[in-house]
Amino acid sequence: MDGKKKSREKENGVPSALEVAQQQLLNVAEKINLDENICSMLLGFYRVLEVDIPVVMDNGRIKTFKGYRIQHNNARGPFKGGIRYHPNVTIDVVKALAMWMTWKCAVVDIPFGGAKGGVVCNPQELSRHEIEGITREYVTRIQPLIGPEQDIPAPDINTDANVMAWVLDTYSMNIGHRALGVVTGKPIGLGGSQGRKEATARGCVFTILKALEKLNMKIEGATAVIQGFGNVGSNAASIISEYGAKVIGVSDIKGGIYNPDGLNIEKVKKHFSTTGSVVDYPEAESISNEDLLELECEILIPGAIERVITHENAPNIKTKIIGEGASGPVTTAADEILNKNGVFVIPDILANAGGVTVSYFEWVQGLQSFFWSEEEVNNRLKTVMDKAFEETYKTSLEHKVDMRMAAYMIAVRKVANAVKLLGLHHSA
Ligand code: NAD
Repeated sequence: MDGKKKSREKENGVPSALEVAQQQLLNVAEKINLDENICSMLLGFYRVLEVDIPVVMDNGRIKTFKGYRIQHNNARGPFKGGIRYHPNVTIDVVKALAMWMTWKCAVVDIPFGGAKGGVVCNPQELSRHEIEGITREYVTRIQPLIGPEQDIPAPDINTDANVMAWVLDTYSMNIGHRALGVVTGKPIGLGGSQGRKEATARGCVFTILKALEKLNMKIEGATAVIQGFGNVGSNAASIISEYGAKVIGVSDIKGGIYNPDGLNIEKVKKHFSTTGSVVDYPEAESISNEDLLELECEILIPGAIERVITHENAPNIKTKIIGEGASGPVTTAADEILNKNGVFVIPDILANAGGVTVSYFEWVQGLQSFFWSEEEVNNRLKTVMDKAFEETYKTSLEHKVDMRMAAYMIAVRKVANAVKLLGLHHSA
């Protein structure tokens, strides 16, 4: 299955997510003269765990799902990374996502390393009860690896606060007491943080505001297009509209909608909550996910999945700024084309780091059992995102490189430095 997927990707010339992630590291390694030994260590992984997850389905039959927990590097702190439930989860996708987490935490200077988890399943075809069964069995099987000081999961595609509550409960049951620090993205009533749900989107919008400032552009009336209408996409649509941008297109897995006069996001959200999709929203034309990405606009937020902008469609992208809400939405070949065409790309490891930043705040609050107001969370988030953006921008000007290379230079140097200080055989 994996092999087939990889060869299909190769056939149309689009590298796999892991190939993209490793190429990005090799590019920066050359730029910063990274020690060869450290580079080869960082191209690999600390631990790769594959588990079978047998679950009693609603029809009484047992179905076995495949799950992974992959830890990339923990030199700067405990492993940290979300759990994805998606039919396209493969070991390579999870590896790429784990590696990106390491760099992301370093860019925003959060004392965590990088990890990721995933289960191959299609939540659209599962009941809540079956998703709970998968979650509890998956957590039990990855239990030896996770913990508040070891590895802290969080939400990703198709896993929400409710799923995090089951992660918390299963882990806590297995160790015999409630351990708030084992997972972030929890419901507020169970030790979650104010502002965590919107944090990835809010952080992404903060970086876009900074980019607009650098490009002497205004947010008021700026046209925005957003792919994905889940946690990241729908919250980004609301938040960027609140700042005065005009959202002209949004989409989800079923398709997109477009209105050049601007969409009323609250109404789109209502339509979504009753129909389960943005498709068929009455006050807009329909548009495919492919065409949506090529709309003329000032701000484009790919907020769904990886590798949606490739060498094939990059020449047709007509935006000024891309804020990578999703992880890995732009391939390395596409990146070069976008750069040549003057598109200002805010890389994922910076643009979507708001989620892990507030996850860190949630972890700190949980360990202290002392909780902050939403205002305090959002203000602290802004401070972290603005600082990381400014550092990245300054590095990009100083070294005459794009924002992705600048963010990687900062991140990889920090991680390499920590590895050097600890020595190769640092503890888990
Ligand atoms: P989600 O499950 O809440 O939403 C995903 C959205 O993408 C849905 O609207 C879905 O319909 C859409 N989608 C899925 N497959 C698609 C496809 N093939 N084409 C178009 N749309 C598709 O997930 P999320 O948490 O919003 O995560 C979205 C992205 O943001 C992922 O890449 C994730 O890694 C990244 N991210 C999320 C967080 C977070 O805090 N949730 C943090 C950092 C990065």
